[in-house]
Amino acid sequence: MKDAADELARSFGYEMVDPAEKATKVRQVFDRVAARYDLMNDLMSGGVHRLWKDALVDWLAPRKGLTHLDVAGGTGDVAFRIMDRVGGEAAIAVCDINHAMLEVGRDRAIDRGLVHGLSWVTGDAMALPFKDKSVDSYTIAFGIRNVTHIDRALGEAYRVLKPGGRFLCLEFSRLIIPQLRPIYDQYSLRMIPAMGKLVAGDAESYRYLVESIRRFPDQKTFAGLIGRAGFDLVKLRNLSGGIAAIHSGWRL
Ligand code: SAM
Repeated sequence: MKDAADELARSFGYEMVDPAEKATKVRQVFDRVAARYDLMNDLMSGGVHRLWKDALVDWLAPRKGLTHLDVAGGTGDVAFRIMDRVGGEAAIAVCDINHAMLEVGRDRAIDRGLVHGLSWVTGDAMALPFKDKSVDSYTIAFGIRNVTHIDRALGEAYRVLKPGGRFLCLEFSRLIIPQLRPIYDQYSLRMIPAMGKLVAGDAESYRYLVESIRRFPDQKTFAGLIGRAGFDLVKLRNLSGGIAAIHSGWRL
């Protein structure tokens, strides 16, 4: 399992890089895609990413008054959903390493009239600018595969959660229906970079996104990494035949 985390630290999509360079390269990708990120998400997934994010928030079942941290929160999709569920009665921090993504999120929040309860924090999942045992719940959606040292990010999630706190991760995963493989390969390796080129004028960034999905550990391996970080009661749910999966764990 250590090998899975080490390999991820050295991979930038299919390219092997010095782990020290990976964060810069990832940041450059999200600088480039920020303005078109939401549009591309809808186009690439046919809107299905919305259902997956709904499933994440369903499983979280947030309650009014909670203190929540959404890491790699980007343009705010998960935070907005949680806020909607609790009728605006929560303190939610959206933390992302990329300022450009957070700026798009902040503008979206203002457009939605969401000015109270949300904070936008620039920070790295591997060194979170939050105190020990300070949040009730933690989510990370489509973020952890971009982080250089996945074990450090999981360790940080554990550190900031209060005892009794909940960790949930939504991430692309491995197909559990082999018959879908040819269509999935064709779509992800050819169509997505082509769409990236057409809509965002940037095939390379979208090629990275697809390749990074394939580099990410499978459901069981990732569940093992979550357990090694100290979480208990680790469970997972596959979405759309394993195209994505949600992992859950508790800090007891
Ligand atoms: N969670 C959002 C969503 O589901 O729409 C955004 C997901 S986007 C694919 C990945 C995000 O991870 C980007 O906003 C990127 O800046 C952020 N990210 C990458 N590496 C990070 C790190 N080390 N710490 C925090 N955020 C990071």
